[in-house]
Amino acid sequence: MAAEIKPLEQNSDEIRSGFGRKLNLLSTIEGVPLDINMAVLLGGEEEGVAAVSEDKTVRIWLKKNKGKYWGSVCQHLPATASSIYYQKDKHKIYVGLNNGTVMDFVITDNGTKLSHIRDVLAHVDRITCIEVIPALKFVFTGSKDTYLQWHCSESGKKLGKFKIDVWISSLCFDLASKCLFVGDLSGQITVLKMVEGSAHFITVLKGHTASVRCLAWDNENSLLFSGGGDNTIVVWDIGSRKGTTVELSGHQDRVECLIYIPTFKQLLSGGYDSNLIIWNMDAQRNSTPEWTESDKCECCNGPFFWNFKMMWEIKSLGGRQHHCRKCGKAICAKCSSNVSILPQYGFEYPVRLCLNCHANLTSEELQPLATFYHLKHRIVHADADINTKRLLTVGKDRVIKIWEMVDNWN
Ligand SMILES: [Zn+2]
Ligand SMILES: [Zn+2]
Repeated sequence: MAAEIKPLEQNSDEIRSGFGRKLNLLSTIEGVPLDINMAVLLGGEEEGVAAVSEDKTVRIWLKKNKGKYWGSVCQHLPATASSIYYQKDKHKIYVGLNNGTVMDFVITDNGTKLSHIRDVLAHVDRITCIEVIPALKFVFTGSKDTYLQWHCSESGKKLGKFKIDVWISSLCFDLASKCLFVGDLSGQITVLKMVEGSAHFITVLKGHTASVRCLAWDNENSLLFSGGGDNTIVVWDIGSRKGTTVELSGHQDRVECLIYIPTFKQLLSGGYDSNLIIWNMDAQRNSTPEWTESDKCECCNGPFFWNFKMMWEIKSLGGRQHHCRKCGKAICAKCSSNVSILPQYGFEYPVRLCLNCHANLTSEELQPLATFYHLKHRIVHADADINTKRLLTVGKDRVIKIWEMVDNWN
C-alpha cells in the first residue's frame, strides 16, 4: 500500500461532480452545555434520540409536532458518559463511562423514563466503544485502559478480557466467523477470534498512518472498513483471504464515523471536515499501486535532488519526487502537473498523474463513485435508521442534527 497521501491544495469543488449536494435537515437538538460524545436513534413513533455527554448525563429527546424535539429524560451519572449502545429489541441502552463502568438502562413509558438495571465495573479508564451481540449475549467494550473486555448482557457477569497495549478506539464483530476487530490509536486493527467464550489472537492489520477512529463491517462480502486520523478509509477484503485493500480518499480531515448500509451497498463516512460522504460500494475499485523509487523521473529522466552524480553530469538542478497515483511511477513536478479525480482507485479529489496516465483517462474513469454532503458541523459521531430513513449526526458544536435520507434510500 502507498504511503500517506495528501490532497493537492487547490479549489477542487468544480472537478468533483459528486460534490456539493444537499441533504434535507429535519431537526436540530441543542442545549447540551458540554461536548456530546455519541447519540443514537431510538426509532419508534416518537423517533426518540438518546445521547451521552461530557456533562455526566444521558439524555433522551422525543419528537413533538412540527419536527421539534423536547427533552424527556436527563439522567445524571457518576462520571462523564463517553459511549452508548442501543439494543432496539429490548429498549435497552448501555452507557460507558469515563471511569470504566458500563451502566445498563431500560427505556420505559414511551421514552419518558430510564430504569437503571445494573453497573458493570468493566474497565479502569474511559470506555470508548460498546458492541452488543444479542445472539451470544455478549457485551464487548474497549477502553483507554488498553483492554478489550466482554461480559454477559443478561447477568452482567464478566467473561473475559484481552490486552491490546494501546488505547482502543473502535470495535466491530462478525457473527458468522466470530471474528472481532479492534481498532486502536496506534493505527492498527487487531483481529481476534472468539472460541468458546475466549479471545484468540489471529493477526494485526496495518494500513493507517494515524489512529484508527472507527470500523464497520459488510456481512455479505466480508469487507472490513476502517476510518483513520490520516483522513482515509481502508477497505479490507477479509473474505478473499488475499490481503487486498483499497483506499478511499475523499475527506480532508480525520474520519470519525462509518456506517455500512447493506440494502443499498453504501458506505457512509463522517469526518472532522464536516463532510458526509456516501460511497457506492457496488462499484469496482482497484488497489492503490505500489510506489516505485527512482533516482530520476520515470517520464523525462530528470534527476531528483539527491542524485548529485547525475545533476553534476548534466549540469542541472534536481527536482522533488512525486508519484503518479494510477501507475505508481516516480515522477518530477513538471511531469506530474496534471491532476484528476481517480474514483476507480478511491480518489474522489484530484491527485497527481503522470503524462501518460493523464492522456489516456477515459470518461468512464472520471465518473465519481461517491457523493459529498457538507453538513456544516464537524462530525464526531453518526447513527442511521434505514426503516425511518433518518441519519443522525453529532457535531463538535454540541448540536445533534437529524437528516432525511429518503432520496438516498429508496
Ligand atoms: Zn519528469
Ligand atoms: Zn502514471
